[in-house]
Amino acid sequence: MRYMKLGLHVSIAGKLTQAYVEGVASNSESLQIFSTSPRMWRSRKFTNEEIEEFKGKRGNFGPIAVHASYLINLGSKDEKVRIKSRQAFKEEVERSKALGADYVILHPGGGADEAVTFIGEALSEVLDYANGLKILLENVAGEGNKIGKNFTELANIIAATKDGKRLGVCFDTCHAFAAGYDLREKETWHILKREIEETVGLDSIRFLHLNDCKGDLGSRLDRHANWGEGYLGQATITHLSQDEFFSQIPGVLETPGDLNARTLDLSRCREWLGLEG
Ligand SMILES: [Zn+2]
Ligand SMILES: [Zn+2]
Repeated sequence: MRYMKLGLHVSIAGKLTQAYVEGVASNSESLQIFSTSPRMWRSRKFTNEEIEEFKGKRGNFGPIAVHASYLINLGSKDEKVRIKSRQAFKEEVERSKALGADYVILHPGGGADEAVTFIGEALSEVLDYANGLKILLENVAGEGNKIGKNFTELANIIAATKDGKRLGVCFDTCHAFAAGYDLREKETWHILKREIEETVGLDSIRFLHLNDCKGDLGSRLDRHANWGEGYLGQATITHLSQDEFFSQIPGVLETPGDLNARTLDLSRCREWLGLEG
């Protein structure tokens, strides 16, 4: 039987194990967290006690993903930002490993003419000590000059990284739609799969971000909507559920609003996927 582990992006505000409190309340299986404030450079440090408690109380939650800070841009044209970003991403990898996370998810960045080379160099360095932790590059909406709005761009980064085959990919439905993939059309899912096969390979896709989208097709706007309130809607989830490949990949929702609103999104998605709500 087909099965897709789904959950929510949850908060660790106050305490790491808050993630599990929200995980239980929302009926999540997989989870995603920020391990530091995603819009501040100063990173959060955890004590050994906090880490041990987080690992000890994990129970059946999994996979667990850590979403890296939004400030990290390994391909910035500003050298200072690149240096800061490398350091911050190393710390993200360290924290993710310490917490026993399965994945750390990164928006590749961009801006410099040599952005792909810069990103590849930075990832080559960090891959060496990522060990069991898998680094996933996320497809982006393509705002500004950010790289990763299609799979050719992600494949270029993987090719520019030493042992780049060890990298994986996280697929975000809102970002893909904003970048021009009309996921409301069944045919788009076939095109998408073919494109993935010819670039990063299907095996690379390890995690999904299931988000409805506030911006219209090709808007390049990274604005998530609650399911049923954006442009993507039920048709998108139905096509996903009918696809043998995508319907087996775990993922989380990163929709807006309080825990109740997001819990409703999750049960709605499960219902549309044909999993029990
Ligand atoms: Zn995402
Ligand atoms: Zn987004």
